Amino acid sequence: MDLYVVLGLSHGATDAEIKRAYRRLARRFHPDINPGDRAAAMRFRQIVQAYETLIDPDRRSRYDAGTAVDADDRRTSGFEGFDFSVGSGDPGATFGDLFAEALADRGARAPAPERGADLHQTTELTFEQALGGATWTTAVTRRETCRACAGTGRTRVGPGLCLICHGSGAVRSVRGHMVFSRSCPGCGGAGQQRPRLCEPCGGTGQETRSETVQVRIPAGVSDGDRVRVPGKGNAGLRGGPWGDLYITVQVAPHPLFRREGDDLHLVLPIAIHEAALGARIDVPTPDGGAARLRVPPGTQSGQRFRLRDRGAVSARSGQRGDLIIEARLMLPSVLDERSKELLREFGRLNGESVRNQVEGGPEGPPLRS
Ligand SMILES: [Zn+2]
Ligand SMILES: [Zn+2]
Repeated sequence: MDLYVVLGLSHGATDAEIKRAYRRLARRFHPDINPGDRAAAMRFRQIVQAYETLIDPDRRSRYDAGTAVDADDRRTSGFEGFDFSVGSGDPGATFGDLFAEALADRGARAPAPERGADLHQTTELTFEQALGGATWTTAVTRRETCRACAGTGRTRVGPGLCLICHGSGAVRSVRGHMVFSRSCPGCGGAGQQRPRLCEPCGGTGQETRSETVQVRIPAGVSDGDRVRVPGKGNAGLRGGPWGDLYITVQVAPHPLFRREGDDLHLVLPIAIHEAALGARIDVPTPDGGAARLRVPPGTQSGQRFRLRDRGAVSARSGQRGDLIIEARLMLPSVLDERSKELLREFGRLNGESVRNQVEGGPEGPPLRS
């Protein structure tokens, strides 16, 4: 095995070239990137061996002079195979250990990516905010990708040789004249130290973080509506997509307006003379302005008028509802003698006619547009 060829270098390569070649190849063949790929693990081991030898001036000069044997050549004195014996070279490792390791390797690959959970919050809006839309700022505490390990759950270890096999990727045991060699249980044959569990996240690859999120609540939302903020839920596991954040809207009641669908309802108190003689009355509109309503002579209490397109904008369709005004006849609290006298006179003139006006039925007066 030519160590220069392993790294794709010529024999006169500089230290910088060796390091660059090593970094490029180690990234490509690292066992974490090629889980379960024995050929890649073997290649990685060779890359590490070549690097360790060529980057050390002493070892490199001996290698160049042809006096050194690299680890791979030494191993040819034995043969590849499993050591079934217990208590020979490596007392800790048995066939059972290897079997368990192989299972563990397979188990670690199996779980599929998982979508992050959705998160739910509630916001309370004033009636005006719900009609006009609002920006809501909220702190969202959620599971995010661990920054220490970039979600892998393992700490990155630099190019450090495995402490059990010293980088060769194999452990050997001698029985009589036989030398047994097998994949190192410490590094799985990679020759490199295995990454350890990431401490900040305990190996889950996620940590809890808080983020301030600005949520645009669209104009026209109703009480109980939900606003979805995509991707602002928990982070997914193993590269899975993010969950969503859902904001449930609660709308406070308004002292004047009541919402029904996208129509707004308003009760308008009218005086007896306005109802009888007709009047032009300024009624408040939900945008804070006013609209002039013509109340015709003879308006009854409970009679309704519709102002087109003065209601709420639908958050779904963008269509505007109507403002429906219900007239409610209010009797004056009469205190002065002059008003009482006028009412008595009014009664003498009109008492009979009121009694005869029983019509309209139980459903009340018709809706006027
Ligand atoms: Zn971590
Ligand atoms: Zn090892």
